[in-house]
Amino acid sequence: MRRVYLDHSATTPVDPEVASLMMTYYTEKYGNPSSIHSFGQEAREALEKAREQVAGFIGAQPAEITFTSGGTEADNLAILGAAEAYKDKGKHLITTAVEHHAILETFEFLAKNGYELTVLPVDEEGLLSVDGVQRAIRPDTILLSVMHANNEVGAIQPVAEIGRLAREKGVIFHVDAVQSLGKIPVNVNDLNVDMLTVSSHKIYGPKGVGALYVRKGIRLVPRVYGGGQEKKRRSGTENTPGIIGFGKACELAQARMADEAAKLTGLRDRLMDGILERIDFVKVNGPRGAKRLPNNVNVSVQYVEGESLLLSLDMVGIAASSGSACTSGSLDPSHVLLAMGMPHEIAHGSLRFSLGRQNTEEDVDYVLEQLPKIVERLRRMSPLFDQMQREAGAK
Ligand SMILES: *Cc1c(COP(=O)(O)O)cnc(C)c1O
Repeated sequence: MRRVYLDHSATTPVDPEVASLMMTYYTEKYGNPSSIHSFGQEAREALEKAREQVAGFIGAQPAEITFTSGGTEADNLAILGAAEAYKDKGKHLITTAVEHHAILETFEFLAKNGYELTVLPVDEEGLLSVDGVQRAIRPDTILLSVMHANNEVGAIQPVAEIGRLAREKGVIFHVDAVQSLGKIPVNVNDLNVDMLTVSSHKIYGPKGVGALYVRKGIRLVPRVYGGGQEKKRRSGTENTPGIIGFGKACELAQARMADEAAKLTGLRDRLMDGILERIDFVKVNGPRGAKRLPNNVNVSVQYVEGESLLLSLDMVGIAASSGSACTSGSLDPSHVLLAMGMPHEIAHGSLRFSLGRQNTEEDVDYVLEQLPKIVERLRRMSPLFDQMQREAGAK
C-alpha cells in the first residue's frame, strides 16, 4: 500500500546527512564537551560549530544561543526565566489564545502564582491585531509572547510590527518560531524579538533538541541548576550528537529554504483547491496566500468526525492530524479553531495536512483520490448529514 506522510508539523524524518554526522558523535567522538582532553575538545569544537550554524540561520550571535531539550523547554525557559528576572518591574504578562500548549500552560502556571495574564483573541483567520496588542500593554507589563506561525492553521502573525511596538514600550518580546523556521525567513533583528524558540525535529533534525535565542542584555533566571553549562542558563551535559545534528539541519534548511518553500506552496494549493473542488460542505481554516505557511492545509469537513476521518485515512496509508499532535487522543476540539470562532461541531471535523520535503504531486493526488470516497462513506452513516439533506429537500 502507498504510504503518504502529511504530518510534518508534528515531526519530520531526520535527514540522512544529519543522522550519519550524529552517529560519529555517538560512537567515535563521544567526549564530554566540558572535559579538557582531546576527546572533550573535539566535542566542544563541534558543539560550538553547531551554535554558529543555528545562530547564523536566525541572524543571531552564537553567544545568544542556549541549547535545550526542545521547543517546549525553550518556551518554558523564556517565560519562567524572564517572569522571575523582571518581577520587580511588574507582574503583567501577555500572550495569545492560539499559542502552543508549551506557552499557554506555562503562562497559566504563572497566572496561578501571583502574575496577571492577558490572553489576546484572534480573528476568524487566526490572525492577531497589532492594535489589540497595543491596547493590552500596561505600565506593569513585563513580557509578551506571540508565536510566529501557528502549528494548526499556519497563520503567520505580524511579529515584526508587534516587536517594534514591544520595544517602544519596553516590554520583553518572545516569539515561538518552531513552525516558521525553515519555511519562511526567521531573523531575530528583522522580527525585533528579544527571545526566540526553535526546535530541531520540526526541521529534519533529531527529536529532543531545541534552542532559545536570548538577545544580549536580556536577563533570565535559569530553570535547571547544576554544572553551569550553556553559560549557566541550562545546566546538564549537552546532548552533543543531537545539537550537532540540529546545527547540520539548520545549515541544510538554510540552503534549501527558497526552493522548498516554492515547491510546498504549489503542493499546498493543489491539495487545498483539490479538496474544495471535490468535496461539498468543506471550509478552509486559516488565511489564504502569503499569510499562511507554505506547507499547511487545514480544512473542516462538515457532518463527519475528525477522528473517523483520520482513522479512515490511516487505513489507506495517509498520515494526517486533527489539529496538534499533543491534543490528539483527547476529544476536546482544538483551542485554536475555537479561538477563531468556529462552533464545536465543525471544529470536530477538522483535518490538518502538513507537507514536507519528500512529498510529491503524486502524494497530493492520492489524497485527492481517497479523501472524497472516505467523506462520502462517513457521511452516508451520519444522522446529521441525513437530517441536513432531508431538510434541504423539503424546502
Ligand atoms: C512542536 C512545537 C513546540 C514544541 O517543540 P518540541 O521540540 O516538540 O518540544 C512548540 N511550539 C510549537 C509552535 C510547536 O509546533
